[in-house]
Amino acid sequence: MSVHRDGIGMTSRRTRERMVQRLREQGIFNARVLEAMAAVPRHLFVEEALASRAYEDTALPIGFGQTISQPYTVARLTELAIGQRRPEKVLEVGTGSGYQTAVLAHMCGTVYTVERIEALQKKTRFRLYDLKVYNVKYHHSDGGWGWPKYAPYDAIVITAAAGEIPDALLRQLGNGGVMVIPIDQDGDQVLKRITRTDTDYEVEDIERVRFVPLVGGVN
Ligand code: SAH
Repeated sequence: MSVHRDGIGMTSRRTRERMVQRLREQGIFNARVLEAMAAVPRHLFVEEALASRAYEDTALPIGFGQTISQPYTVARLTELAIGQRRPEKVLEVGTGSGYQTAVLAHMCGTVYTVERIEALQKKTRFRLYDLKVYNVKYHHSDGGWGWPKYAPYDAIVITAAAGEIPDALLRQLGNGGVMVIPIDQDGDQVLKRITRTDTDYEVEDIERVRFVPLVGGVN
């Protein structure tokens, strides 16, 4: 994919500014999140034929049966996981197109991202390199196991829905760290925010969401 497909019509910075304005209307107020969403060229994370739809508030296919999350969802996950901090280490499960990865990379020291589909992650690695997003480490694995090598993490972001919160991920969350994860509940999905305190984990239900499922094993 070329990074030069930019600057005109539906993919310009102005189109992105309109997306950001819509995010504000949808209740995203974190200025740093909005700034990151304005900076990352979302149209370069979808297939070329879909580029003109990249800034609509919709999920789009990225191949391999997976989707890039809608802008609101990416902004919300980021705002919940990062808040006003600038975390040093963020673990992401479900690299996908790398769009969420790039938004997180804009706001933290290093993103450690885990993806189970090797070919998808390879494509994404090249894409982010082309975009000069260098503070990302990639791991091809089942993200249900997290990435113990670099634990503990200041924040953990899961971009696929799980039946329950994986224990391995709870263990890899640092003290004071925050994890956001969509969980299957009553035939629906609920986004949960988990905050690790000195002695416990606090769990909050945030809102209903729609993600592809977290699948065990690798491909
Ligand atoms: N954040 C991505 C969303 C991709 S969809 C984006 O913005 O494009 C969710 C991703 O999670 C898919 O790429 C899927 O392959 C991956 N995934 C599903 N189960 C997984 C698992 N157990 N471990 C790692 N990645 C997983």
